[in-house]
Amino acid sequence: MSQKILISACLLGQPVRYNGRGLSLESQLLDLWKEKGLLVPICPEVEGGFPTPRPPAEIEPNMAGTDVLDHGARVKDVTGADVTDGFVAGARIAVRAALDAGCRFAILTDGSPSCGSVRIYSGRHDGEKREGIGVVTAALRQAGIEVFAQHQLKELALRLEHRAIML
Ligand code: SF4
Repeated sequence: MSQKILISACLLGQPVRYNGRGLSLESQLLDLWKEKGLLVPICPEVEGGFPTPRPPAEIEPNMAGTDVLDHGARVKDVTGADVTDGFVAGARIAVRAALDAGCRFAILTDGSPSCGSVRIYSGRHDGEKREGIGVVTAALRQAGIEVFAQHQLKELALRLEHRAIML
């Protein structure tokens, strides 16, 4: 059976980002996976009940998605509102969607406090980034799903190839 891949909906151009826009990711690999019907799009923040557009949010300084899930770290939007509960709810829904669809892999938008998997924003709303992962990435990895950023599609292709050989 072909391997389904969870993907951040904004990477497919869906206008679900905090600013009401989508992203455009040009990639032959992505086009191929899309044609084969392997992609399972989701926006965890929309699933968590947030409107679009919405104020941008960041995980508090020196914390990451795992700390939000396990140690009470908070996510706050640019107005100072605590939006942690919606982020955690969206992450739980994303895990459920991935497991229900049989996804063992995910492609998520790096930089996001939900979907980041390499870097996230500082937590000070100052435009600076730091190493870290978002809440959805943390939840998916805890569920055994491998997460790749949108700039790691070749690495994912190699993983899929390796897995196909091993099965
Ligand atoms: Fe939604 Fe994730 Fe894209 Fe943010 S990065 S808009 S949470 S899919």
